[in-house]
Amino acid sequence: MSDQMKDRMKDIVSLCKRRGFIFAASDIYGGINGFWDYGPLGVELKNNLRDRWWHDMVIAPPLGLDGTPISIVGLDSSIIQNPKCWEASGHASGFNDPMVDCKESKKRYRADHVVVLIPKDGQGYALAFDKDAEDIEIEKRLKKLAKNKSISDFDRKSLDQIPVEDFPNIIAPDTKKAGTLTEPVQFNMMFKTTSGAKEGSDSEVYLRPETCAGIFLNFKNVLDSSRVKVPFGIAQIGKAFRNEVTPRNFIFRSREFEQMELEWFCAEEDVPKWFDFWVEQRTNFWLSLGIPKSELHFLDVPKEDLSHYSSRTIDVEYRFPFAAPDFDELEGIAHRGNYDLTQHQEFSGQKLDYFDQAENKRYLPHVIEPSTGLTRGVLALICEAYTVDENRPSGVYLNFHPSMAPKKAAILPLTAKPHHVEPAQKLYMELRDEFVVDLDIKQNIGKRYARQDEIGTPYCFTIDNETLEDHSVTVRDRNTMEQQRIPLDKVKAFLREKIYG
Ligand code: ATP
Repeated sequence: MSDQMKDRMKDIVSLCKRRGFIFAASDIYGGINGFWDYGPLGVELKNNLRDRWWHDMVIAPPLGLDGTPISIVGLDSSIIQNPKCWEASGHASGFNDPMVDCKESKKRYRADHVVVLIPKDGQGYALAFDKDAEDIEIEKRLKKLAKNKSISDFDRKSLDQIPVEDFPNIIAPDTKKAGTLTEPVQFNMMFKTTSGAKEGSDSEVYLRPETCAGIFLNFKNVLDSSRVKVPFGIAQIGKAFRNEVTPRNFIFRSREFEQMELEWFCAEEDVPKWFDFWVEQRTNFWLSLGIPKSELHFLDVPKEDLSHYSSRTIDVEYRFPFAAPDFDELEGIAHRGNYDLTQHQEFSGQKLDYFDQAENKRYLPHVIEPSTGLTRGVLALICEAYTVDENRPSGVYLNFHPSMAPKKAAILPLTAKPHHVEPAQKLYMELRDEFVVDLDIKQNIGKRYARQDEIGTPYCFTIDNETLEDHSVTVRDRNTMEQQRIPLDKVKAFLREKIYG
């Protein structure tokens, strides 16, 4: 990460805390690595993103390939399921990231998060770095430890692709001598707990590492209880838990997070067109929330990096400041084949196939899964909104799309005197059923504008003496800081137009 981007992330984290978006969990006890709490504004922002996804998936799903609305139903399944579920899904045995320890620095690394530079001429040691290390940082270390060789004198490989026999020739990321890395060990990322009063392996259960399993377990229940026909989707939003080795980059990689997942069930022969359809839909979703195309990147995941169940995955990546100028994953769109239904059918002994009446045949549908992190999406929205502007008192404002802004408007009586406060209260009562609005009475107006800029409120309505005379208010636009007067009784219509478009 460049110094500039490091500072940017620091500023974002500090604004999030100062203004009540995101706090470290257990802050007063010194925090707990990988866990975060969403404050008064953070929870509004997260709910806005969640509700918009739910709306676009379940309430008003897109028009399908034939121009008619597709069918998607919702679900809210349990976080803890029968442990057999995770045997079937492969998580009990396979949800492992190979990890290596450094005997010298005592640090632990995820092998696929370490990149190794191997000298092209075969002379000297290979050097390991964090996969996000900046070129300048690498060059600096090479100067010291590799006889002034430069990056172009090396080939790059991920540590998990290097045979253990070669480990003695690698200088670990935080040391100066070679041979301190241990053999990779497998580490299951599922959180374990016990269910019921008796402790022991009978009652051992797991917190789900992804929400989609509950969808597959309920495939038959949904088929039997609703009128859905393939192709159709089941959508779910909820918490997921992964004991990540190195939680980092603020809420980007946490141990407790939220996912928004759609499992789209279709016939195998229709997979290519539905896959393209979902990539396009999901891209449009992010664009409509104010993430510009230039900040998105679509990674067709190379075959060797695909999950065991997937034959094709496209990662929608966003240029997070800590990854810049590169990108990191925001959402994955995976073709999961019929792996999950096949596995759950086998492990449960229950038939999960679909009967197609028109074709008179039974089959296990294939699945396309757009899976996105709700909390990671929140981080993308905050990073994108963060705008430095030295020409305003706050020095920075959050340029949220109005539909995502935690507060849609602030109502500001010019003074704390009753003739300003009372009409302000009246306007607040008129608006609050439809919009999340702030009534802010204290401090001088400049400070109040600055606060609203920093929390990304798109509009401020000021009640002043003119309001008493002609029933008009000042509207201040967050981005342009321009002010105009509109009639008091047009405020609601104004907000509707700006927010719902
Ligand atoms: P990685 O390889 O980076 O660990 P992944 O590819 O395993 O992640 P998926 O299993 O595809 O991630 O998860 C789907 C989505 O869930 C991701 O695109 C991301 O938005 C979100 N997600 C996954 N892990 C985390 C996490 N630890 N913290 C926050 N969000 C996460």
